[in-house]
Formats: sequence, C-alpha cells, structure tokens
Amino acid sequence: MLGLRGNKSESLPSLCMDRELLSYKGAKPLFALTALLTVIQGMCIILQAVFLGRAVSGLFLGKQIVSVSSDLLLFFVVLISRHITVFIIKQICYRFADRTSSALRRSFLSKLFELGPKSARKEGTGALVSLTVEGVRQTRNYLELFIPKMAANGIIPVLILAYVFWEDRMSGIILLFTMPVLIIFMILLGLAAQKKMDDRWASYRVLSNHFIDSLRGLPTLYYLGISKLHKQTINRVSDKYRTMTMGTLRLAFLSSFALDFFTMLSIAFVAVALGIRLVDGHILLEPALIVLILAPEYFLPVRELGQDYHATLDGKEAARQLSAYTQKNGVEAPHSKHFSAPDYWSDKAKLAIENCSVTYEDGSKAALKDLRVTFSGFEKVGVIGPSGAGKSTLIDFVSGFIKNGSGTVKMNGKTISFASNEWRQQVTYIPQHPYLFSASFRDNIAFYSPEATERQIRQAAKAAGLDLLIRSFPQGMNERIGNGGRQLSGGQEQRVALARAFLCERPILLLDEPTAHLDIETEYELKEPMLRLFENKLVILATHRLHWMEQMDRIVVIHDGRIAETGNQDELIQTNGVYRAMVRSQLEGI
Ligand code: ADP
Ligand code: MG
Repeated sequence: MLGLRGNKSESLPSLCMDRELLSYKGAKPLFALTALLTVIQGMCIILQAVFLGRAVSGLFLGKQIVSVSSDLLLFFVVLISRHITVFIIKQICYRFADRTSSALRRSFLSKLFELGPKSARKEGTGALVSLTVEGVRQTRNYLELFIPKMAANGIIPVLILAYVFWEDRMSGIILLFTMPVLIIFMILLGLAAQKKMDDRWASYRVLSNHFIDSLRGLPTLYYLGISKLHKQTINRVSDKYRTMTMGTLRLAFLSSFALDFFTMLSIAFVAVALGIRLVDGHILLEPALIVLILAPEYFLPVRELGQDYHATLDGKEAARQLSAYTQKNGVEAPHSKHFSAPDYWSDKAKLAIENCSVTYEDGSKAALKDLRVTFSGFEKVGVIGPSGAGKSTLIDFVSGFIKNGSGTVKMNGKTISFASNEWRQQVTYIPQHPYLFSASFRDNIAFYSPEATERQIRQAAKAAGLDLLIRSFPQGMNERIGNGGRQLSGGQEQRVALARAFLCERPILLLDEPTAHLDIETEYELKEPMLRLFENKLVILATHRLHWMEQMDRIVVIHDGRIAETGNQDELIQTNGVYRAMVRSQLEGI
C-alpha cells in the first residue's frame, strides 16, 4: 500500500524506489505471483478467525467439544495453509533477490572494468569495495523483503477490512479511520530516517576510503613520524560513524515503539466498542470474537513494514548507488553505428588520430589539444615531454579509458573507437607500477591469459629474465607474491609485467613511464628484455628518459598538451627545437 502510493509522489524519496524495483528482470511476474499467494494468505487469515471464533463461541454457549471439532479441524487446516503460502512467498522472493543482486554485481564490475583505473581512483578503492561486498548484500536483503511487504500491505488489510465491514460496520469504520493515522506517522518517521541514512552512507564512504588509505600509507606515515597522530584521525572518523549509527538506531527504536503504541490503541478502541455493544445485546458473541481476532491481523503488515523499513533503507540506498554506477557515462559508446570494428593490427595497419582533444571533468584547460598523429605497422614510437605535458593522457586515450575525448580516430581509413572491445583486446598496457595479485608467481604471470600452458608460462618468465629469481625461491613458480607474500623489488615487479605481456602476445604495446621509478642500473638491465618484447609490435612508450630514444623509430614530443615536434632522433636534433633543448638540459644535468 505504502510502496504503491510512493510512486505518485516524488516528494517522498524513500518510497520511490518501487518503479525501479519493478524494472528488474523477472520482477513483474514475481510480483503477480506474490500478489496471488498473498490473496490466498489473506483468505486463510479470515477463515482462520471465522473457524476459531465459531468454535470458541460454540464452547462458550455450552456446546460439546465434539460438536465444534469440525470447526477446530478446519481452523488448523487453514492455519497450516497460511504458513505454507508464507513459506512459498519467502522462497520465490529469496531466489529473485539472489539472482538480481548477483546480476547487479556483475554489471557493476564490468562497468568498473570499462571505466578503468582513472575512475576507480576517483571513487576510491574503499568505497568501491564496500559497495561490491556490503552494498550487494544489503541490496539482496532489500529485494527479498520489499516485494512481499508491498503485496501484503496492499492486499491483506483491504480483504480484512471488507470482511469486517460485512460482519460489523462500526468496527469497520474504526479500523478504516485509524489506519491513515498510522501511515502518516510512518511516513514522517520514514522521511527522517532517510535523511539520517543518507548522512550515514556518506560517512561510511569517507570512513572506508580513509581506512584503506591509511593502511596503504602506513609506512610513509611511520617514516614521517606521524603514524600515532593519524591514529587520532581514524578514531575521530570512526567515532563520527558510530554516533551516526546510534542516531539511526535510536530513531528506529523510537518509531517501532510509536507504531506498536498506536496499533494497540486502535485495537483497544475496537475492543471497547465491541464490549459495550455486547453487554447491550446489540451484537452476538461470534461476530464480535471474529472481529477482535482479525483486528491485530489488520495492522500486522503495516507494523512489519515499519520494523523492516530501516533495514531495507540501507539496501535501497545501496541498490541506488549500484545502479547509478552502472548507468554512469562510459567512454564513447563503442557499439554506436558511427564506429566500425577495428581490424586486427598488422605490419601494414595504419592508425590516424585526427584533431583529438581531451579535457578532464575537473580540469579547466584541455590536457590534449587538437592532437594529430599517425602510427603505422610495427613502429616504435617514443612519447616524450616534461611532467604534466599530457603523455599519460595520450596513453590512456589510446587504451580507451578517457571519457571526454573528442575528434576522430581512424584505422585503415575506417572510424573506430578506442573503447571497443575489439581494440582493447589487441592492446597490452604496462603502467609504472604494475599490480601484483596476492597469488603464486605462476598465477600472477598467467593472470591475463589463464589458458596458457606451463611451458608457455615458463618461456614468458624466462624472456622477462625471471628464471633465476624463480629458481632461487624454495617453492619456485608456486611461491606466493603480492600482498602478504614475498616482496619483490620495483625492477622485479616490472619484469612480472613484462612476462605477462610476453604471454599475451598482443600486437599493440602501450607503456607509461615503465622505468621512471627505477634506478638507472636496474633500468639498463630491463632494457634488453623490453626491447625483445617490442619486436613485431606497435609500441608507444611514454617516458622522460632520453636514452630510450635511440631505439625508437620516431619520437613525438609533447609540450603543454600539443605535439611540438615529431621525427627521428637525428631530425629532431637538427631542428633545434624542444627536443634539442631537453637533450641539452639533461646533459648539463649530468
Ligand atoms: P604527463 O603524463 O605527461 O606527466 P598527464 O597526462 O598526466 O601528464 O597530465 C596532463 C595534464 O592533465 C596535467 O595538466 C594534469 O594536471 C592534467 N590531469 C591529468 N590527470 C587528470 C585528472 N584525472 N583530472 C584532471 N586533470 C588531470
Ligand atoms: Mg604521466
């Protein structure tokens, strides 16, 4: 009843989820079936009262127990039927909730992968983790509870009220007029709770991000000597969350107390009215008993809704957040008719980026402006420029992770999208800090190619120069690395990333300052396996280390979001431009 009304009024935000709820797959048939079963349940409730009322009044009027035994038997049959329908409703709603929340989690995760690391960093790892774990659980809870509650509230009180009117008009009128008071009260409390809930969710998000950040930064905080100080901040944030939770709980207790009080009062009205008329002889015992048995049942669904309301609020908010995230604007729609599917990259392929610009959501000026550049075949292109020039932005753009890119990208003359799966499946991306999963060496190398054979994995490890390291471990390939496992040096981590790339064998390789954090000796050791990886691939390598440029076929110099110069090393040295100035300043630096 409440839920259905909520749809009409946008001013009751807490009750408006229902339309969205019904849009989930399979929700409408489920709702119809639940409604049917609820009608049966409502009839059982009425019959139960009728048979019980008849049996008790019969005994009261001096009948033998044997003569009312058929009524008693029927009462038990109806009672059992009632509980069976409740059980079936629970089962089907549980299945629906389980299925829907899993689907929601799947689409949430695939959206996360589509949006890529930039967006994940913006939302915060902690918030995303709590949304996938806690949020999905709360959503399931909500989906499981809400549909049966909506059906029960819409159907059972109406059936009971109709029967009571037919049996005794006076009691019907009392029940009819007390219900709206109860509902208005519930809505008021619901609105207050919603406000509290929003605040609580926001502070939960802050807390989880804060906590994970602090854990990650613990070594830094320790070296700076402020880890103790930070403890206080964590305490303060947690304490704020605790106070908010207590506030929500207080409101929940208060409202369930208030609801109980009002229902009791209403039932007392009915009872007193019945009692007075019974004494006066205006009503018989049997209908009076039946009405009195039915009165609490009339209020029960609304009270239950009130009790679970606070629990379901969490779930509704989580469901909203989950679906808001999945509906987020991704990168340019890859399936749009303006784009062709890209061919597989080959020796003869050509990629043309035509006047593309990129502006970040929160950036005032464009990070890349009117970019015009072509890449062909298996050439090696070095992207060079000072910090903040736009190198990473260019790499992210070609990886398909940039949202606000404009301009045209053509491959072999056909307009394509970097966000399409066909493109992404051809690209390997090596970042500055590759992520090591908390898993064995083998699983880490084969993470992106799970179908790889043991021999292929060993070959890839060898090509990346990891074989000696692996042999030095007691458990060899099964040695655990990553969080909680053996710690690797920066250079070794980068070798794991190289091994992954060797195993993937994709024709396009993008690297974003893969060696910027390594000392020069480590970098030189890595150079040999890297150059081997570059063979037979289109390579775009962003770096500010100039020694790589000798091995590059072409150099693209980016300055302030624009391409300042392109050419090979000799040409650029001769032009006496930005590149030459960079070389000179690095030489002077040495
Ligand atoms: P580089 O990799 O060459 O150091 P970037 O591509 O990271 O440079 O950055 C280019 C410009 O875009 C810089 O001015 C930087 O401040 C800005 N920028 C980079 N990432 C973001 C972001 N996520 N949001 C807003 N501005 C950004
Ligand atoms: Mg960068």
